[in-house]
Amino acid sequence: MRNYELLINGDSVPGAAGHFEVIDPAMGAPFARCPAGSTAQLDQAVSAARDAFGQWKLSTHEQRCELLSRIADDIEREADELARLIVMEQGKPLALAYSEVGGGAAWTRYAASQEVPVELVEETPAQRIELHHKPVGVVASITPWNWPFMIAVWHIMPALRAGNCVVSKPSSLTPLSTIRLGEIIARHVPKGVINVVTGGQGFGSAITAHPGIDKIVFTGSTETGQRVMQAAAGNLKRLTLELGGNDAAIVLSGTPVDAVVEEIFQAAFLNMGQTCAALKRLYVHESQYREFAEALAAIAERQVVGAGLEEGVTFGPIQNLDQLELVSELVDDARAQGAQVLCGGTRLERRGFFYPPTIVTGVSDGHRLVDEEQFGPVLPLIAYRDIEDALRRANASQMGLGGSVWGEDEAQAQAIASRLESGVAWVNCHAQIQPNTPFGGCKMSGFGVEFGLQGLLEFTTPQLLFVRQRTN
Ligand code: NAD
Repeated sequence: MRNYELLINGDSVPGAAGHFEVIDPAMGAPFARCPAGSTAQLDQAVSAARDAFGQWKLSTHEQRCELLSRIADDIEREADELARLIVMEQGKPLALAYSEVGGGAAWTRYAASQEVPVELVEETPAQRIELHHKPVGVVASITPWNWPFMIAVWHIMPALRAGNCVVSKPSSLTPLSTIRLGEIIARHVPKGVINVVTGGQGFGSAITAHPGIDKIVFTGSTETGQRVMQAAAGNLKRLTLELGGNDAAIVLSGTPVDAVVEEIFQAAFLNMGQTCAALKRLYVHESQYREFAEALAAIAERQVVGAGLEEGVTFGPIQNLDQLELVSELVDDARAQGAQVLCGGTRLERRGFFYPPTIVTGVSDGHRLVDEEQFGPVLPLIAYRDIEDALRRANASQMGLGGSVWGEDEAQAQAIASRLESGVAWVNCHAQIQPNTPFGGCKMSGFGVEFGLQGLLEFTTPQLLFVRQRTN
């Protein structure tokens, strides 16, 4: 079993608190050991980052762009190893893991191409006023287990680009691809600019309360996000919180099923449904309810469920047993209340955490499967009669990450979409993200955005430069 090491101040070091095992979800058994860091090692990582910040913040934009481009080159060169490691720790099919690595390289290149703007607010003979954006300092990145490599890239690259130093803490369920990413970055940047630490119970809260950290970029559940926010109050850490979602999609009546059903399926089951902005509740007009349900079930039945490294597999396991049990519980609850499970609906009898894609009808708001974030391979379909009622129900969630409206009449779809209470509103697509467009949630899905200029500026602090000009 391979051992991995922490990255502190440019050195790979064993965890002072021992190690824990990382489980392959396709086997339900450990395949590697991850170091468990101590709080003393966390202190070392934070002070290494703090020391490195003194010089790193003075590096030029050109220097940082150049280094990020070289990091992207290395990610591409090592894509095979990275993708296989992602499959082993996360479970997704290999082709999807390649997309995750490719996305990581693309987002890194985008960060390399970005400029931190200086805004000229006013210029008169008497005064010149400029708005600058300076790096915040030491940024802690805390990431979840669903897209471990890509989300680490989303946090780390803009933070570095803006001139910060980083302490990264991956999920203990999927720490290895982030450790490898840290090693790649460390080849190119000065010691201490990037550090990767992991630990057991309580390690996350040691980070969020740490007085040497200036900002936290956190992606994970709403519940943990609330804890992060509480713990961060001590030194008023800046926060970006990308939290859970329960995205609704509304299909307008008369939408041709064939034109949209494949894309709806992919948006709901992307990464086995373990995607923050996956489509999680589908509102369909009652006149087309059966037709949509059957078409989705037919696509679900075609999926080849299996281990991510097996040839031909299109659908992998759930990443961990707790999540599998939650998904089973939500489906069983719906079934007990009279819902119909058109396909899937039970854990596969084989090793690993396999649960096939599942389509559930006869459910509505008030069922746990609709009201809670399932974060797994299940899609509930809810029938509606009146579009205003569908919109009201879509907005009745505490979550507000994404949402979508589908229909042939684009103007009507757009008018409804713009009334969704969500950080992103899509029309005739869902879960589409790209490096140049800001992405983030509202309500209990968090605040702050990633990507684009706004995403980069989250890693900066504004400084107004007010120059009284001498008039001779
Ligand atoms: P989680 O909240 O359990 O864990 C996320 C991270 O927080 C992990 O690294 C974990 O070790 C760490 N952590 C746990 N307790 C902590 C504490 N008290 N203080 C600091 N850190 C702590 O989430 P998860 O189960 O890994 O991920 C699934 C959730 O993430 C889902 O709700 C999903 O919607 C959400 N998510 C959101 C986005 C987004 O962009 N909005 C993207 C991906 C996932």
